[in-house]
Amino acid sequence: MKNKKRFMIDAHLDLAMNAIEWNRDLRQSVYSIRDRENGMNDKLDRGKGTVSLPQLREGNIGLVVATQIARYVEPQTPLPGWNSPEIAWGISQGQLAWYKAMEEQGEMVQITNGKELDKHIALWFDEEQDNSSKPVGYVLSLEGADSLINLSYLEKAYANGLRVCGPAHYGPGRYAPGTGEKGGLTAMGKDLLKEMDSLGMILDITHLTDQGFNEGTDMYQGPIWASHHNCRKHVQHQRQLNDDQIKVLIERGAVIGGAFDTWMLVNNWVRGVDDPKQRNVYMELIIDHFDHICQLAGNTDHIAIGSDLDGAFGKEQSPFNLDTISDLQSLENPLKQRGYTDEDIDKIFYKNWLEFLSKAWKE
Ligand SMILES: [Zn+2]
Repeated sequence: MKNKKRFMIDAHLDLAMNAIEWNRDLRQSVYSIRDRENGMNDKLDRGKGTVSLPQLREGNIGLVVATQIARYVEPQTPLPGWNSPEIAWGISQGQLAWYKAMEEQGEMVQITNGKELDKHIALWFDEEQDNSSKPVGYVLSLEGADSLINLSYLEKAYANGLRVCGPAHYGPGRYAPGTGEKGGLTAMGKDLLKEMDSLGMILDITHLTDQGFNEGTDMYQGPIWASHHNCRKHVQHQRQLNDDQIKVLIERGAVIGGAFDTWMLVNNWVRGVDDPKQRNVYMELIIDHFDHICQLAGNTDHIAIGSDLDGAFGKEQSPFNLDTISDLQSLENPLKQRGYTDEDIDKIFYKNWLEFLSKAWKE
């Protein structure tokens, strides 16, 4: 069967977290995983997942940025996390081991440089081959740097294929305070950025505080992106980008991945209470965020997909007209109706990320 769907890149998925912490075998279809979780209630999103490898292939999403994620928490911190950086490192290494096992089975393939990227893209554009035989490519990213026990661990991580790091996540962080916090990068965070720069890594500014954003973009010499980030103009929360930040990112040649967490698509979403249908949260709301960035940029070069689907939430916190991640393909017509050309849609679906990576990894 030839695949007539457009190619897609999703720049933010917590695949290994779902495997290791949610105990999901992502080789199975989303529907099998939901069945398996029938009756479980240890997490809000049990039985409501939307992402797995077969659904990525079904959606012609052949390349993703996939995370390692493990937070360190001080005693009495309300956020979930691990009690020492060493434990967090261990969890992140379990996640890496899962990615490696998927590679050994031909389910996934790690992409770390321009040559591998070109080869992988050529494979996915080969229409003679069925998608079911193609490994899903992944660029390895660390979301929140807490698990790096010290900077020597960044070098170990780089040797294992890590190419992107976002120093912050939610809450206080060892390297940078994240969403919901105030203040700038810690001394360790500033050293981390210098080390990332010398390794030629990509800085993901997602989840930084406003001060952290300013410090990070001032300090960092190398490539910067915002893997999963919407606009504060439409959702009034520090988690989203304000216009000044968007302008800085445009100036730096960044790409901003539109996220599909309902909390990031509408104002005042109440987690665990609100219902996507009742709040009328549908996928196409992302186009308002895209439009706004395009107006500030004067072009369509800086928008793309960073869905964050199954990022510790499932269907209960995803647009009501999205059943699985493969439904992202249905954005094509609404984008056309909003005036985006064929070329613009390809840019949003994959070309902007592809170009960013090709440029970042030029020898
Ligand atoms: Zn995130």
